[in-house]
Amino acid sequence: NTGFPCNQDLIHCTHRHEYPANLNIAIKNSCNPYFYQVMRAAVTRRQTGNPSEDLHRGLGQWQKLVKSFGLGDKLGVDMGQEKGGFIPSPEFYDKRYNKQVASRPSRNKSARFRGWNYKTIYSLSIGQGEIGLTGLQTANVMATIANRGFYYTPHFVRGIGKGGQLPAEFRQRHYTGVDTTLFKYVIPGMCEVVDGRGGTARLASLRDFGIAVAGKTGTVQNSHGYDHSTFAAFAPANDPKIAIAVFIENGGFGGSAAAPAAGLMMEKYLRGKVARYHARMEDWIKYGNLTVHLH
Ligand SMILES: [Zn+2]
Repeated sequence: NTGFPCNQDLIHCTHRHEYPANLNIAIKNSCNPYFYQVMRAAVTRRQTGNPSEDLHRGLGQWQKLVKSFGLGDKLGVDMGQEKGGFIPSPEFYDKRYNKQVASRPSRNKSARFRGWNYKTIYSLSIGQGEIGLTGLQTANVMATIANRGFYYTPHFVRGIGKGGQLPAEFRQRHYTGVDTTLFKYVIPGMCEVVDGRGGTARLASLRDFGIAVAGKTGTVQNSHGYDHSTFAAFAPANDPKIAIAVFIENGGFGGSAAAPAAGLMMEKYLRGKVARYHARMEDWIKYGNLTVHLH
């Protein structure tokens, strides 16, 4: 429950919003400066007396936790050609930046600088930079949060087991390395994203049907054109039945394109149909140009 100012000198914040006094408010408003500062505090903790070594160690710990959510490696689904994505290690940055450091090992260990610092890697704090995720991994992270801290290896299935009995190998839980009490703070923040006042993904709301959706938008910067629009979610928040990730290339802001697409799919899955008054939204998604209509 630590607040960090929405300090735009550190990193741009897309949204104008209240003071991010805690994780809940920061998630709701997708506050980049908040996550910049949270990660900085986490990976630059004093551990060795040498800031460069501290960061090296801190990023290694960060990588391990992030990978415990099934990221950075293949999940092991049943189809070939699965991609593993990428979660960078401290050694990755050593290789890229510290050539001269490696060739001239300093005798004075406390003065040793590895050639990169937090400014080099801060994009990781908002899920950008060198991070690579597959759509399936993103949906699986949603399932992991929905389960409050574990996931099952995802499978493509036509049916499940004999007489509903699942073989043991499919029941193996993969637990994350993070404190499970954290999910108690993350999930209400994700519900605010969808149903809170000024939340960034209100078009994914299923509140009219008494269903709470927990989600998170993403706007992926794209140097080649319009930003990519992403939204990942699960529902119902307190009794999850579906986890989903939607990625719309060049769709712009995450809340305007991917969120309504995900909302409609969850509505169809959970209710078996889409409400008539959502037909217009379906048309927008089928025939395009969401950003123009919904801004
Ligand atoms: Zn902010």
